[in-house]
Amino acid sequence: MIQYEVRPTQELPRTADLVIIGGGIIGAATAFFAARAGLRAVVIEQRPALATLTTPAATGAFRAQFDNAEEMALVREGIALYTHFAEVTELAGYDIDIRQQGYLWIATTETTAQRQREQVRRQRAWGLADVELLSGAEAHARFPYLAPEIVQARYRAGDGWLDPRKLAMGYAAASHATFVTETAVTGFALVGGRISAVLTTRGVIATDRAVIAAGPFSGVVARMADVELALSLVRRQRVILPDVPDVPPDAPMTIDEETGAHWRPALRGAHLLWTAPGVPPGPPLEDVPPSEAFALGLLDPASDHAVARITPFWRTVWRRNTAHWFSRAGQYTYTPDHRPYLGPTAVEGLFVNCGYSGHGIMASAGGSRLVVETITGQLAPAANPFRLDRPLIERELDIL
Ligand SMILES: Cc1cc2nc3c(=O)[nH]c(=O)nc-3n(C[C@H](O)[C@H](O)[C@H](O)COP(=O)(O)OP(=O)(O)OC[C@H]3O[C@@H](n4cnc5c(N)ncnc54)[C@H](O)[C@@H]3O)c2cc1C
Repeated sequence: MIQYEVRPTQELPRTADLVIIGGGIIGAATAFFAARAGLRAVVIEQRPALATLTTPAATGAFRAQFDNAEEMALVREGIALYTHFAEVTELAGYDIDIRQQGYLWIATTETTAQRQREQVRRQRAWGLADVELLSGAEAHARFPYLAPEIVQARYRAGDGWLDPRKLAMGYAAASHATFVTETAVTGFALVGGRISAVLTTRGVIATDRAVIAAGPFSGVVARMADVELALSLVRRQRVILPDVPDVPPDAPMTIDEETGAHWRPALRGAHLLWTAPGVPPGPPLEDVPPSEAFALGLLDPASDHAVARITPFWRTVWRRNTAHWFSRAGQYTYTPDHRPYLGPTAVEGLFVNCGYSGHGIMASAGGSRLVVETITGQLAPAANPFRLDRPLIERELDIL
């Protein structure tokens, strides 16, 4: 693989066209789209390296199969970039390990099968023509490792996954922005109600525009400018089994639509995930410890959300009991309607790019392009479905 190194500095520039707060995938993507708009961006990251908080916890999956047209459009824009990343970014040979092995949603009850049919009908009406509805028999014929109880599946071959850190560092390299690490943003200077500088632990950087892309810390940073963001932070986890020969390496992301448990091939094994209900929100964390009970809940066939429910080979893996696993955790940053906050705040010159829940990798391109267009004035506030002052309708927990 061709290397494109990003060399962060600890020297704070005195001025910037745009200061981006946070060097995760969203900060890096914002820098990339800012550069395309001709803005000289400086990204401030408090940790010793970029993309080291929530971004590496992700499994890096992307899907166009959404339940609303706006997020679907955001992600489809991203998929178009990710599938041609090296060409679009002019990083010749840069590889983000993209795999389009599909997303397969499994129904084992008629109620869920009915919901799937309605969902696919809506998706087709929004222009997503390539989602397939498979009968139980068709699903088995294509994916013989599925459990016999499956009544129906929906499948889109163009969905898949990529490496989130490689994508983040690709955005960073292609942005040619200045990345300042080991430097925390501590406040803002305002003149006449407008941003005039960003204050950091290494001094002051003069700018009239700043974007908060601080992941789970976005609410804390916004409060420094007296902006309140309704956000709640919930621990989410990923179990990594590096070596399980039973996992078909060409399998899609396989989701039990009754329980939300899902897995996908990774390394010589798999990643396992589940959006557990009832996890209490908490404060933003620098270290998010995983729990062993979470891994056991996915692996033990006796559990009500075991991955063995829809793919019985996991029962063999459990019985053999020789597979190693480890887990990673991070925090989902939820808005009340689970859609991101993108665009200007009430403070002139201060923008947000945050609140992506479990979609910040897949929506990083669409969301960051949109935010930059609100900065340059190309996108009018009323045309932005993700603006902060939209009506916020509380949403039930999504299974992914
Ligand atoms: C288990 C799990 C699985 C996931 N799977 C997927 C998936 O498959 N697909 C998908 O699209 N999404 C997934 N996500 C969601 C995705 O990981 C996030 O939406 C995304 O990483 C958010 O990126 P970010 O840059 O906003 O946040 P982060 O990566 O957390 O970056 C924010 C950065 O801001 C910095 N910062 C904070 N405060 C300050 C300050 N005051 N000064 C300077 N720097 C500061 C932090 O140090 C941090 O580096 C998953 C998340 C989890 C937890």
